[in-house]
Amino acid sequence: MKNAFFLLFTLCLLHLKANAQKPKVIILATGGTIAGKGANPDRAAYEAGKIPIQDLLVAIPSINKLVDVQGEQIASVGSYKITIEIWLKLAKRINEIVTKNEADGIVITHGTDTQEETAYFLSLTTGSAKPVVLTGSMRPSTTISTDGPKNLYDAILVAAAPQSQGKGVILSFNERIYDAKNVTKINTLDVNAFDSPNTGPIGKIHDGQVNYHNQPISTGPKPFFDLSTISTLPRVEIVSMYVDASAVPLNALLNENIDGIVIGGVGNGHYNQAVQEAIQKAKSKKTIIVRSSRVVSGNTTIATEDEFNDVKMNTVAALDHNPQKARILLMLALTRTKDREKIQEIFLNY
Ligand code: ASP
Repeated sequence: MKNAFFLLFTLCLLHLKANAQKPKVIILATGGTIAGKGANPDRAAYEAGKIPIQDLLVAIPSINKLVDVQGEQIASVGSYKITIEIWLKLAKRINEIVTKNEADGIVITHGTDTQEETAYFLSLTTGSAKPVVLTGSMRPSTTISTDGPKNLYDAILVAAAPQSQGKGVILSFNERIYDAKNVTKINTLDVNAFDSPNTGPIGKIHDGQVNYHNQPISTGPKPFFDLSTISTLPRVEIVSMYVDASAVPLNALLNENIDGIVIGGVGNGHYNQAVQEAIQKAKSKKTIIVRSSRVVSGNTTIATEDEFNDVKMNTVAALDHNPQKARILLMLALTRTKDREKIQEIFLNY
């Protein structure tokens, strides 16, 4: 009897010791294709966000030998339905985990359609030195050769890796690691769905090994936007430029006295005569207009001498922010200032 008790006591101690040594990762699940459920495993049709994180973890039991994993369901939506309310909930929970030191790293499972936007928003609103790793999948969890379990397994290891400390908010997808500011979705269907056209990936995870070959550009020592006093964000919309575009969308937004507008321009943030006339008229309004570009790489530079002169047109150049990222930074910048020059400074520094 005594030997049995002693054996049991020893086994419990060993289990506690082993767990105590394992890094802890908290997963914040939001839905997406990674949680998608389809009727036929041999067809692509599915509904996003149907499978809870606890069930997704069942597919990767071996992770529990390496990492102490805990899942929380924050939302269950396709990421085309992500809202600013869900963003604020994620940011609040991340800051709470970091402040209370509840985990060594955080993973967010999320649809790929807007994953880059959530990543960038969180990189600006959670001053976390602990890694926050977003991941998802291009094939639903019920389909043949789904990429979800592998991406989830890898993302947990990236979040648990000591070398990921200080990398801020990153994306782990298809064995590549990207920083939040530069990553964008580059393919509508491929499992290799992301890239950072201006900088490339910052690292790789292969066969359980995490290696970084670049520092993320977006995690400099900048004060992050403190949302503890903010419950709603200024409203910013995007209008696109193309051959012979009319100014109807831009004027409609200006007539609503919207807080900010991003122009997804052509080339180096260029727009046509009709849009130029609408921007001229906007000068009398309080709406801040940012010039970005639909071009997938390169910067939208500050215009000084030509017809797009940012000072004369009272516009802000988006620099290395694509339209969807420029919108996020403008929303947050407007919580600090409505001054064009100060907002241009923010775009230069974030
Ligand atoms: N197809 C998307 C995904 O890969 C759907 C979504 O973004 O929720 O997750």
